[in-house]
Amino acid sequence: MTSFPWQSAFEIREQVISGAMTAVDVTRAYLARAEALNPKLSCFLYLDHEGALAAAAQVDRAREVGEPLGPLAGVPVAIKDNLCTRGVRTTCASKILGNYIPPYDAHVVEALRASGAVIVGKTNLDEFAMGSSNENSAFGNVHNPWNLDRAPGGSSGGSACATAAGLAPLALGSDTGGSVRQPGAFCGITAIKPTYGRVSRYGLIAFASSLDQVGPMARSVREASLLLEVIAGHDERDATSADRELGAYHAACGRGVQGLRVGVVRAQLDQLQDPEVRGAVEAALESLEEQGATLVDVALAHAKHAVSVYYLIAPAEASSNLARFDGIRYGLRVSGEDLADTYARTRGQGFGPEVRRRIMLGTYALSAGYYDAFYLRAQRVRTLIRRDYDAAFESCDVLCTPTTPTPAFALGEKTNDPLEMYLADIFTLPPSLAGLPALSTPCGLAADGLPIGLQIVAPPFEEEKLCGAAQVVEDACGLVTSHPPAFA
Ligand code: GLN
Repeated sequence: MTSFPWQSAFEIREQVISGAMTAVDVTRAYLARAEALNPKLSCFLYLDHEGALAAAAQVDRAREVGEPLGPLAGVPVAIKDNLCTRGVRTTCASKILGNYIPPYDAHVVEALRASGAVIVGKTNLDEFAMGSSNENSAFGNVHNPWNLDRAPGGSSGGSACATAAGLAPLALGSDTGGSVRQPGAFCGITAIKPTYGRVSRYGLIAFASSLDQVGPMARSVREASLLLEVIAGHDERDATSADRELGAYHAACGRGVQGLRVGVVRAQLDQLQDPEVRGAVEAALESLEEQGATLVDVALAHAKHAVSVYYLIAPAEASSNLARFDGIRYGLRVSGEDLADTYARTRGQGFGPEVRRRIMLGTYALSAGYYDAFYLRAQRVRTLIRRDYDAAFESCDVLCTPTTPTPAFALGEKTNDPLEMYLADIFTLPPSLAGLPALSTPCGLAADGLPIGLQIVAPPFEEEKLCGAAQVVEDACGLVTSHPPAFA
C-alpha cells in the first residue's frame, strides 16, 4: 500500500471501506497538508474544512450502518473555482465574483457528492479560465510544484498543482482550449477533456459555450478514468448534454492497444523546436507500437489556423457570456452616477486585463460590419478543422501529438506578450474546436526534471480508446510514481 499523500483514490476507498482508516482521518490529513503547503503553491483559493469534514463523517456513518458506499467513498477531491458549490464561495479567480456564494451545486459537484467524494476546497485558475499560465488570477499565481519558478499551466493550474503535489488525489478542471490538458502536461499528471456534451456544464460558469467541458485530473490514467465515469452522463439542465450511453472508462484502461491504429502528424512532430518534447513523444509512440499498435501518418491541413480561429470564437462567446456581470444582480458592484456609469465602473474595476482584452476582441469580432469577416469566417475554418479529423479517423483510431510545444515555461516569461501565450495552445486547440475527446498523460521528464505530456485524441464519445492507449504509455514510461522532488 502506498503511503500518504501518494495513495490512489482506489487505495483510499479500500482503506475507508475496510475500516483501516476513517474518511475523517483521511480528510484531516489532506487538509493539514494543503494548509501547510498552500502558502508555497497558491493552488487553493479556499479550503473548506467544515464542509469536507462533514462529508467525510457522513461516509463514516454510512459505513457504520452498513449502507453501500460509492466509487469515491472518502476520497478527497479539489474543485476548480469556476464550478459552483452550494454555500461555498465560487470566484472564477475574479474580483467581480469575489463575494459570490452560489445557491446550488454544479452537476459534477452533485455527482461527486453522490459518489462519496469529499470536496476539500476550491482551486485557483486564470480569471474566468482565460489563460495558459494561471498568471491571470486576481488572487495570485500558482507555482509549478516541479520548479516553483515555472508556470503550472492554465487555466486549471490550481487543480493540476494540487494533484501533482499530493494535496489531493483527484481534481476537476474545465477545458475550453486546453485548460486541463496543458496544466496536466506541465505538472506531470493525467487530464481528460471529454467529448463536447459528454459531461454536463450545469453550474460551470461559462467562458465559451461552444467549447467548454469539465474534465478529470489525477496522477494516474486509471484514477482519471474513474473520475470521468463518475461525472459523465446525461443531464437535462444542460441543453448540450448528450443523451448517450456511458463508456466503461476505468475498465477500458486494461484493454491494451493490440491492433489499434495510431495517427501521427509527422510534419507537426518534425517542426517541433524542443528536442526533448519530440524525443519523449517519439518514445511514447514506440511503446504503443511495441504493445501492438500500428502508426499511421495523417495530415491535419487546417490545424495551423486553430490559434487564430479559437482566439476569435472564444473571445466572441466570452464577450456575450460575461455580459451578465453588470453589478446589478450579484457579485461586485461599484456604484456610479447612473446605470451606465455603474456598469462601466463595476466591469472596469471587477475584470482583470486579460478578461477585458477578450471582451473587447470578442465584441469587435461580433460587431456589425465585422461579423462576416471575423466571426463567420472563423466558424467556417472551424468546420474545415473538424473535417480534417473526420478524414484522419478513417485511417486511424486515435491520434497522438505533444500536449504542449515545450515543458513548463517560466513564470513571467510570456506575460508581456499575449500572442506568445496564445501559441502555447497550438496542440490543444484543434481537438477543442472539433469537439473531440482528448487526454494528456506524462510521457517523459526533460533533463531539468520538468514533465512532458503526450496528447491522445479520439473520435467523438470514444473516450475508452483514450484510456486504453494512455494506460499503455503510463505503464511504459513508469512516471506514475515520480513526484515533484520538493514535495515527495
Ligand atoms: N489557454 C486557453 C485560453 O486562454 C484555453 C483556456 C481554457 O481552456 N479555459 O483561452
